[in-house]
Amino acid sequence: MEFKELGNTSIYIPAIGMGTWEIGGTFYPDYSLDKEAINSLRKGLELGMTLIDTAEMYGKGHSEEIVGKAIKGFPRDKIFIVTKVLPENLRFYDLINAAERSLKRLDIDYIDLYLIHAPNLQIPLKETMEAMEKLCDEGIVRFIGVSNFDVDDMEQARKYLAKIDIVVNQVEYSLLSRDVESTILPYCIANKITLMAYCPLGRGVLARDKFLTEIGIKYKKTAAQVALNWLIQKERVIAIPKAIKIKHIIENANSTDWRLNKEDIELIEKHFN
Ligand code: NAP
Repeated sequence: MEFKELGNTSIYIPAIGMGTWEIGGTFYPDYSLDKEAINSLRKGLELGMTLIDTAEMYGKGHSEEIVGKAIKGFPRDKIFIVTKVLPENLRFYDLINAAERSLKRLDIDYIDLYLIHAPNLQIPLKETMEAMEKLCDEGIVRFIGVSNFDVDDMEQARKYLAKIDIVVNQVEYSLLSRDVESTILPYCIANKITLMAYCPLGRGVLARDKFLTEIGIKYKKTAAQVALNWLIQKERVIAIPKAIKIKHIIENANSTDWRLNKEDIELIEKHFN
């Protein structure tokens, strides 16, 4: 597994982590695939995808419970847990309480990275960032970040932090969704913020793409592996594909430690322009 620097921290995290949307349900809990999901996440951890992304929103918290079970027995300091607070919980004490509930569901003592899931214009960002900073001060979270923030939102958020900085912006980024390349990615690069790419496989569409399949032949890699490798060769970018099928987990873990060549990157970018 390749590792990349987390923000400006000198801490290194895996270039490919595991997403968990739909693991444990979507907007409501779903217990039907718990066993399979736990096995898949454990397989991914064994293969080096030691970063897991979840959220209090996913399955109304059940995704966090599954993650908590999946990490049992793995050394805590080798695993990097990311979770997110819902936009409706961005008031100071709502946010502190939401983090405490996430800790309980995850059954851990601290969250490695806590993200604001999306901006909420109804709640002053200053209040939210002060609560995020307090969580850090108290050791409840190690690092903080944002998700679905544009450049202005990031600037605002950073302005309200006294002692620390955000280390991540989690945004949609894939060959099918490249809007971040105009402003968000350059800002992240310039300010040493990690861009955590969600929906990196375009919800699975890129894994079935004929052009990427062709490109992958000479590397003996699949379309999904090409799509993920294209993302992580970008400065500051890591990706969090979600997979429940073991075959997919293994493929995703093997999308690092090799590189597409310059000509193929150009061909791919032209094709998906
Ligand atoms: P995604 O990772 O782009 O795609 C997931 C789909 O791709 C699943 O159907 C999965 O199938 C399939 N897949 C995974 N690996 C594959 C492979 N090697 N070959 C073929 N198919 C493969 O989409 P996503 O789940 O929407 O996004 C990833 C994660 O980002 C989420 O799980 C979540 O953690 C995060 N996210 C965050 C936000 C936000 O607002 N911050 C929004 C969306 C997503 P199987 O599951 O059947 O294996």
